[in-house]
Amino acid sequence: MFEKTNYIGRFAPSPTGPLHLGSLYTALASFLDAKYHQGQWLLRIDDLDIPRNITGAAAQILSTLETFGLHWDAVVAYQSDSLSIYENALTKLASSQMIYPCICSRKTLATEGDCHCLEKKIDLNAPHAYRVKADQRLIEFNDQLQGTIISNMVEQDDFILKRKDQIVAYQFAVVLDDAFQGVNHVVRGYDLLALTPKQIYLQKLLGLATPAYMHVPIIMDAQGFKLSKQTLAAAVSLKEPQRIIFQLLQLLRQSPPQALKNSTLSELLAWAIKHWSPEHLKNCHSINQFAEPS
Ligand code: GLU
Repeated sequence: MFEKTNYIGRFAPSPTGPLHLGSLYTALASFLDAKYHQGQWLLRIDDLDIPRNITGAAAQILSTLETFGLHWDAVVAYQSDSLSIYENALTKLASSQMIYPCICSRKTLATEGDCHCLEKKIDLNAPHAYRVKADQRLIEFNDQLQGTIISNMVEQDDFILKRKDQIVAYQFAVVLDDAFQGVNHVVRGYDLLALTPKQIYLQKLLGLATPAYMHVPIIMDAQGFKLSKQTLAAAVSLKEPQRIIFQLLQLLRQSPPQALKNSTLSELLAWAIKHWSPEHLKNCHSINQFAEPS
């Protein structure tokens, strides 16, 4: 009998546009890590930031992943279905006096530097955000690729958990969603490494377990910019999925054998799962899209 480990990983794209080569790279890394460990690979659509969502993008992401043979293991989760979880956690933090309302506008923050709402009486009838107090503790964790990270919370701002427009902030939602879905391995892009101490801090305040983290390099374009929707990275082409997976495996420094160049997609993925060795990416922050195969 096939025995499942208790590894639970996930890919959590925001539906702000189609997948580009950089997001598919991260998806592939988290898929391979989960499958190598005979774990489950979940898919979650991070759709809380309504103004940034693009109609049809979630469906397009799902079908792109299927085209590339990256099949997920449970029903797709949507953050927008978890609003009560966020509210309950906010209430819990409020009862331990760890959050406070903030009415600062961008302009006030730009002129005053910091938010001083903690010292003020805030009119709760006016639109307000909620910030969490950052205390003095040190957050330390070991990223599987990037090594030991230590961050002193006192150097972090009291950060926003719920925005003035009532949208739950990414930092807060991601922690609750991962915990709720039982995710114990997070594989994602290096650009999110700097936000991880805040997320671990929230896990500690809420009594949640901290998953293992692995931050894989981000893919840069020829000009050295991160491939992203902001820099208008092109949607990944659906025409030759096998060829693109082969290229992504090279960018993941997995050295797929030339003999697999003309294999089927499922043969290539089976090879990649079996031989998954993320340690070739140790301490690597970014990789050029046109890097020579290693
Ligand atoms: N939804 C986030 C993004 O697309 C990623 C969340 C995560 O992996 O923690 O950037």
